[in-house]
Amino acid sequence: MHYDVIVIGAGSMGMAAGYFLSKSGKSTVLIDSFNPPHNKGSHHGETRIIRHAYGEGENYVPLALKAQELWNDLEKVSGKQLFLPTGVINVGYEKTDFIQNIISSSKTYSLPLEILDSIEVNKRWPGINLPNNYIGCYEPTSGVLKCEECIEAYRELAEQNGATIITNSKVIEIMVHDDKRVTIKTEDHTFSANALVVSAGAWSGSLLSMLDLNLPLNPIRKTFAWFDTKDDLYDHKEFPAFSFETSHGHYYGFPSIDGSGLKLGRHDGGDTIDPDEAILGFGELEEDTTDLKQFLQHYMPFAQELKFGKTCMYTMTPDEDFIIDTHPNYPNVAIASGFSGHGFKFSSVVGQILSDLIISGKTEHNISPFSINRF
Ligand SMILES: Cc1cc2nc3c(=O)[nH]c(=O)nc-3n(C[C@H](O)[C@H](O)[C@H](O)COP(=O)(O)OP(=O)(O)OC[C@H]3O[C@@H](n4cnc5c(N)ncnc54)[C@H](O)[C@@H]3O)c2cc1C
Repeated sequence: MHYDVIVIGAGSMGMAAGYFLSKSGKSTVLIDSFNPPHNKGSHHGETRIIRHAYGEGENYVPLALKAQELWNDLEKVSGKQLFLPTGVINVGYEKTDFIQNIISSSKTYSLPLEILDSIEVNKRWPGINLPNNYIGCYEPTSGVLKCEECIEAYRELAEQNGATIITNSKVIEIMVHDDKRVTIKTEDHTFSANALVVSAGAWSGSLLSMLDLNLPLNPIRKTFAWFDTKDDLYDHKEFPAFSFETSHGHYYGFPSIDGSGLKLGRHDGGDTIDPDEAILGFGELEEDTTDLKQFLQHYMPFAQELKFGKTCMYTMTPDEDFIIDTHPNYPNVAIASGFSGHGFKFSSVVGQILSDLIISGKTEHNISPFSINRF
């Protein structure tokens, strides 16, 4: 069967790309090793934070704002609530790049941001116990995305637009013949198309090496867990999502949503893994629990017993910026990978960018920081 576009990997980025491509009238097939959304890649665990004033750098802000607009559109079109406006508090030492980037982003782009000292933070959210050398930057307009539901919504709409989604089929071979024809193989089938999107998350490195592209992508094991709470302190109607850059590490988390418990993960650290091998489960390494408990003891002492935890994968680049580009030798191959543990919030706009790159070879969004040739 011949299509306009094949998308390899129908996860966060790929499913959004499939939606935008099919909406533009392109005949699109999305192929995934599993049945997205699923719990084998980087997009499970119920929730993802979306921040607008961006600690990782001001150049992300226009994309974050566009992504938010597209999430709002997706809510309207799908009729589902995908975004919870919990607000997000970013905590750290005032002089760090992370905090300074947040403050300068809010000034440059006139984003609402409340800068609070530790006494104000502790008073406003009694579930937090912040030592007096930290500050909190509270963004009232950002919040939480229901990640699997976002992917489901894009999937349903892409299918309504006529996209074909092939599940439980791993792509094992890619051939680009010229700038108008590609062929890919799964174990059972061969598909051809004019163009290709590679959005295979932690598996992108091995797939792209079939196209003579060896990118510095490093898949790592990550863990996160839910803790019982006194819900009046940590309920999402009162308590924000959070990102804490502390002397004990960089942690992020979510309020208790409908009694789920407080969800917490550590952003820095993690061991390199092979995504094709079995990954150690949550709790199989001692630090899986000790890190999180130590954070809670110091900063959120009223969260209680560990309920359960999970593992997931980040795909790191050396500078922790994304890769969104076309293949240097094949303009009909668009690539999105290396989201370094902060990509989900952008997946709506990344889907639109991938569709732009396939349809016209360019995009109005500034993706120059994410180019392949920076390596
Ligand atoms: C624990 C955790 C917490 C996070 N928190 C946040 C957060 O709060 N905010 C935020 O913005 N981001 C966050 N992230 C990061 C974000 O979730 C990722 O950056 C994003 O999901 C990456 O999307 P992706 O499309 O690259 O990968 P995925 O969503 O994993 O999609 C890749 C897809 O490719 C498929 N695939 C791979 N190889 C093949 C093949 N050979 N053939 C066919 N299909 C294939 C896979 O099955 C998968 O479905 C977090 C990540 C983790 C793990």
